[in-house]
Amino acid sequence: MIRRMFDWLFPRCCRVCRAEIPADAVFCAKCFSEIIFIDAPICSRCGKMLPVPLPSEDSQLCPVCSGNDEICFDVSRSLLLYNNFSRRIIFQVKRKADVGVVRDCVRMLAMRYNQIINTADLIIPVPSHWSRNLIRGYNPPSLIARELSKLFDIPTDDWCLKRIRRTEYQGNKTVAERVANVKSAFSCDRRDLMDKRILLVDDVRTTGATLNECSKSLKAAGASLVSCITLASTSIEGERV
Ligand SMILES: [Zn+2]
Ligand SMILES: [Zn+2]
Repeated sequence: MIRRMFDWLFPRCCRVCRAEIPADAVFCAKCFSEIIFIDAPICSRCGKMLPVPLPSEDSQLCPVCSGNDEICFDVSRSLLLYNNFSRRIIFQVKRKADVGVVRDCVRMLAMRYNQIINTADLIIPVPSHWSRNLIRGYNPPSLIARELSKLFDIPTDDWCLKRIRRTEYQGNKTVAERVANVKSAFSCDRRDLMDKRILLVDDVRTTGATLNECSKSLKAAGASLVSCITLASTSIEGERV
């Protein structure tokens, strides 16, 4: 009765277009149909969508990953293609701390990447600088890490990886500038990561410079495997080189 009254007073609305939706939904059917999920063919390392499948069966690597020994993470996967539409979904996570959206996206991540997530011993969110957390009141990747932790019963640790210097916004930088911007920006305090398999979590992945720099710190601290999961990822064509 109270629930029905609550629903009548505060009708649930689609997080993208504000249309009224059933109580257990987050997006309306129309918006859900517009979401572009990252799907095959993808690069087996960075998980970016490839324009066409590559000829070789065992080496589906994109031009960036092929022969690149600077990459420190073992595998990276994303749920949504980052475009003008999914930007509005990510906005709900980054700016509004909308746990309903996070939970729905995490459920979809679980369906797609169950095997990668399940092999992790510890979930670590990409950290923001403490000054940003203070202003915003939360770290968006931590919201995702917490929901994954609950669903998979894998511990999460917000404190072991730290952003030791405030980096500039990556949005309009080239690949080289992004790499330089996050270089040595992270440090890992935990000494007991030896042979641990880490799931590194972020909201959006573009060039992967941040994920790579975090992975470097985690591997230096002894992690045996670093798998990355993000809610969204830009396309290969969308990268500024
Ligand atoms: Zn909608
Ligand atoms: Zn790749």
